[in-house]
Amino acid sequence: MSQKIVGVKGMNDLLPGEIEIWQHVEGLARELFGRYGYGELRTPMVEDTALFVRSVGEETDIVGKEMYTFEDKAGRSLSLRPEGTAPAARAFIEHAIANQEPLTRWFYMGPMFRYERMKTGRYRQFYQVGAEAYGSKEPAQDVEVMDMVARFLDALGLQDITLNLNSLGDEACRPAYHAKLVEYLQAHKAELCEDCHRRMETNPLRVLDCKNEKCQAVAAQGPSVLDVLCEPCKAHFDEVQRKLTALDIRFVVNPRMVRGLDYYTRTVFEFIASHPALGTASTVGGGGRYDKLVKSLGGTDVPAVGFACGLDRLVLLLKESGRSFVQVPDLFIAAADPGSHDAAFALAGRLRHQGLRVDFDTRGGSLKSQMKRADKSGAHFTLVLGELERTSGQGKLKQMSNGQQWETALDPASVIATVRARRAEVASAPQGGTA
Ligand code: AMP
Repeated sequence: MSQKIVGVKGMNDLLPGEIEIWQHVEGLARELFGRYGYGELRTPMVEDTALFVRSVGEETDIVGKEMYTFEDKAGRSLSLRPEGTAPAARAFIEHAIANQEPLTRWFYMGPMFRYERMKTGRYRQFYQVGAEAYGSKEPAQDVEVMDMVARFLDALGLQDITLNLNSLGDEACRPAYHAKLVEYLQAHKAELCEDCHRRMETNPLRVLDCKNEKCQAVAAQGPSVLDVLCEPCKAHFDEVQRKLTALDIRFVVNPRMVRGLDYYTRTVFEFIASHPALGTASTVGGGGRYDKLVKSLGGTDVPAVGFACGLDRLVLLLKESGRSFVQVPDLFIAAADPGSHDAAFALAGRLRHQGLRVDFDTRGGSLKSQMKRADKSGAHFTLVLGELERTSGQGKLKQMSNGQQWETALDPASVIATVRARRAEVASAPQGGTA
């Protein structure tokens, strides 16, 4: 036997049975983000490596250790996208959107790639849904984005998720914070890992999101950026909090949250779940303001704010909730004998053409085996088509939930009308009723 080829480590197949949860989450996102005026953006999976180096930052784990980078046949350095904000900004600049739409709202969803250490909720191909708003520097824009995430998580029925909020200041106050931080880190240098010794020199903020436990312990006691915010940054942060409160969005201020990407200025936030199923992969979404990114990538000076949620983690939480999103067939059609197989197949086809979800076993087989499949499929109704039904043009729909039988003519319109009427009756019956 030839050797089996298996999927790439950290990259999962999503099969029917689970995919329905994904479709539910994606559908909700589309509907909800559309309600806030966000249009969908799709960018390629592959970008010029320099895009991520210049935006996400060379010293970040994402760029420094986790990117899938390769040379194409012409010797260009390309990378599978590890996140969606930089590609969106690239597209925003490339299509000169700022001239056409001074306030632009985009959302995206799709796979991202990071060569990370895998565990539950952390994969090498994972999926994000995110949004970006360009053109407004106002706190209201930050809050609109956070409100959208909060409503999204609410609509998914997810609870026990806390919004953590912080401000990273801007180019006016961050140097003072850097200086304070470096002074503190110097005093604790012996406790820091090798990577952080380098980061202290190149990008001290990155020490604060080092995954090493000792470094995290040092970071937890470090100076708070909030103590050194300049007046405009402080006013912005206060207004963000006031507006969140006005929209009944609960949050906690977490002065040590810096996020693992370099491009943020002022507001940063994370939505953190406390569900044990996620273990330490508990951040379901995060984002912030990045007022300098568009300009630093060669665009005009356009402020922006955005977020990304990890779909894999949201799906994990929904799986835990035990809710089912699988759609079962409306009707299973069984052929009572081989001579009825053709007629049953034709009826199944015509019903499908007209919008009914129909299952039919194309392999034929005994009535018993077909009925076993009907049971397993969870179909709402079954119809057994035999010689009698073929000649009379009448048949019986069996309602699988209670065994009741409903006589119907076997033309597609009548079958569909009977199925829909009975299903509507079930849907409107009071809880615990027998209909
Ligand atoms: P980030 O772009 O790192 O801010 O990530 C935003 C969100 O994407 C996180 O809050 C996670 O929910 C999700 N995420 C990031 N990395 C992974 C990964 N390797 N596997 C699964 N989800 C991830």
